[in-house]
Amino acid sequence: MEVILGKTSGFCGGVIRSVLETEKVLDKYGDTYCLGELVHNKQVVDKLEKKGLVVVDTLDNIPSQSRVIIRAHGVTKEVYEQAKEKNLNLVDLTCLKVIKIHEMAEKLVDDGYFIVLAGQKSHPEAIGTISFCGENSAIIENLDEIDFIIDSIKNSGLKKVAIIAQTTYSMDKYDQIVEVLSKKNGDSYEFEIQKTICNATEMRQNECKEIASKVDAMIIIGGKHSSNTLKLYDIASSLCNNSYIVETADDLIEDYSIFDKVGVMAGASTPKSSIEEVLKKLES
Ligand code: SF4
Repeated sequence: MEVILGKTSGFCGGVIRSVLETEKVLDKYGDTYCLGELVHNKQVVDKLEKKGLVVVDTLDNIPSQSRVIIRAHGVTKEVYEQAKEKNLNLVDLTCLKVIKIHEMAEKLVDDGYFIVLAGQKSHPEAIGTISFCGENSAIIENLDEIDFIIDSIKNSGLKKVAIIAQTTYSMDKYDQIVEVLSKKNGDSYEFEIQKTICNATEMRQNECKEIASKVDAMIIIGGKHSSNTLKLYDIASSLCNNSYIVETADDLIEDYSIFDKVGVMAGASTPKSSIEEVLKKLES
């Protein structure tokens, strides 16, 4: 059996930075709060919790002046305000690419745009970003919501529409949204297309397509709540009937030896150790 591992598998720059900086903070100060799981990967979070990371869902019950880590996904404007009110000591590890999108959104609001954010409504990054998009904005997750988006744009009375994206959104779905929106409304509005999907995501999705189209089976490694991992799985299963998603080597339950060629890709929050364990198990 030949195993092909995608070169772009594993931690992206933003995740590497947040994990390394968090480790430094824990080594220096000990127990530290983190608003939400630092990354969508249980193994990584478990390891950091053992070092003193305390994951919380809200800032509500955190004593004032506590140290709180903001993860790579970023947070809403309101969270920054609440942290200021409570006099919290924020360690802001929001990915610099996400911060750029927040700044871009604020500028688009000032310039009179209605902002359409292509993203997953329940994802923390999208929830954070939309809070910087002002009241004339909407998140679109799937194409079947396009009529609702068009109505929202009409109701706003604005004539300029910007289309931005969550950094881990599907490249293909973004292009479809732009095409349909501009085709249906090309004459009525001025469009500003800002494909803010991260290049790490783009490269990973392209490589996943390339590998999935030439193997007999495809294994995607990553957390079950990781948006970019689930996108990789969607891409793989659209091109390869035998696609599997696993969090760790323990989840490898099929008999992969029946396949000649097996492709392996991992999401942006999957640690090297999980990838190595999967490869080792496949080889054995
Ligand atoms: S996927 Fe890109 S934008 Fe998101 S955390 Fe990683 S480097 Fe940053």
